[in-house]
Amino acid sequence: MRSRNGRTRRNPPLFAALNIARMNTTTPPNDDTALPERFSDLALDARILRAVSDMGYEKLTPIQAKAIPLLLDGRDIMGAAQTGTGKTAAFSLPILQQLMPLASTSVSPARHPVRALMLAPTRELADQVYTNLKAYAKHTPLRCACVFGGMDMNPQKAELRTGVDLLVATPGRLLDHLEAKTVNLSQVQFVVLDEADRMLDIGFLPDLQRILGYLPKQRTTLLFSATFSPEIKRLAQSYLQNPLLVEVARPNATATNVEQRVYQVDEDDKRATLVQLLRDNPLPQVIVFVNSRLGAGRLTRALERDGIKASAMHGDKSQAERLTTLEAFKRGEIQALVATDVAARGLDIAELPGVVNYDVPFNAEDYVHRIGRTGRAGASGLAITLATTRDARALADIEKLIKRQFEKQTVSLERASRPRRDADETRERRMPREPRAMTAEGQTPAPAAPRAARSSRHDPWFDKPYEADPNAQPPWDATSPMPAASGVRSASPSIRPRRKIAALLGGHEPK
Ligand code: AMP
Repeated sequence: MRSRNGRTRRNPPLFAALNIARMNTTTPPNDDTALPERFSDLALDARILRAVSDMGYEKLTPIQAKAIPLLLDGRDIMGAAQTGTGKTAAFSLPILQQLMPLASTSVSPARHPVRALMLAPTRELADQVYTNLKAYAKHTPLRCACVFGGMDMNPQKAELRTGVDLLVATPGRLLDHLEAKTVNLSQVQFVVLDEADRMLDIGFLPDLQRILGYLPKQRTTLLFSATFSPEIKRLAQSYLQNPLLVEVARPNATATNVEQRVYQVDEDDKRATLVQLLRDNPLPQVIVFVNSRLGAGRLTRALERDGIKASAMHGDKSQAERLTTLEAFKRGEIQALVATDVAARGLDIAELPGVVNYDVPFNAEDYVHRIGRTGRAGASGLAITLATTRDARALADIEKLIKRQFEKQTVSLERASRPRRDADETRERRMPREPRAMTAEGQTPAPAAPRAARSSRHDPWFDKPYEADPNAQPPWDATSPMPAASGVRSASPSIRPRRKIAALLGGHEPK
């Protein structure tokens, strides 16, 4: 395990704790017919239901249908779900419900001790959870706040002093507040560890253990993770009491709604191809993934020169810049958000129509995370990958992981615009990918493990076959199919879309 400053550090009591194998996780009975369908089926306070209705939610997502009744019963759960499945509401709503009897309109800070703590690995995710939580709590007297690094601590201290019932935090900044004694966690009843797999990835484990040491032993603990590696399972076994395992379709379940295309392009045509795709439907707004910070900056400048509103998002950007960019993107003022993987992790952008892999990711699992940025909450999405002959091996790794073969398509460029490769591009090609962006607290962690080491950490959970939701209607079955980009040879003559998507990630093909 690496610490945030990149040094290897071990925490003996923690690892001793992790070795206590209490393999008592149980899976709730798999009787989906008994699951609630609508929010009105749940025993939720009218003020919470009103907020849910304000958000426009009607039906529960699968993780909500499975987790909320268990959480209302006060159980600890391990949830296999990633951002985009509706998990924030899955844990927030039952926690709010259970705190309602304690909700106070008093201005006294003493009446608003922290009773629920939600920990997230990145600033962006913490901010996103907070935004949703605030919306769900808006008709109740319960107070919510969010603290993360890269921001002035003083306004956070002032808010904490006024009293906060539910606190969202990144681990490092929370520890700063604990050390400054600006927050007291002795009355916490609910703890959520969100994206626990990412927390381990970034090396927060020792920080987590310290934080959990400030909490009362008697509490409800919820752990959400996209993957359940042995490390995560051990963490869960150590900190959760008799947890129930709640699983919905695999994290790439959103891929049922995501059409994946791979365009075979010449290295020198990548930029012109991207510009053409961005100028045409169906990509009015996209996240464009690149493998390096330098590449993100350079591509952004090139797109702007081509008249496309673009902005870069990577680990070298300050927190304020990243939030401003994200807000501008969400308002539709930016067409292309050019991002590295770490900066884009956990982002939830409603109705994002597509993502483009301008660079094929070196790590196949990053592909799954990237395409999961689109097609969220039941919407349809398009994931385009621009592959050159140099990407054959990385593409083969992705195909192996998602258990499907890509049918490569070609793009006929409208303009013979082959931008000359500039000096820094040539230099860039020789540079390795961005090792890691900064951690949530603004420190640069250790470089990524070499490829061989990373692959040895491959999580067999990803090998499980993906099971498509039999009720999900693929968007291309709808009456008005998504148009192909002009100049882009459509897949339709040779590809039967239904087959293509049903076979996605190893699912069964319909007859
Ligand atoms: P999350 O997984 O919590 O990041 O949520 C992903 C997106 O789904 C967010 O934009 C939520 O507002 C939205 N969402 C959550 N639950 C529902 C629901 N039951 N119906 C529709 N949208 C939802």
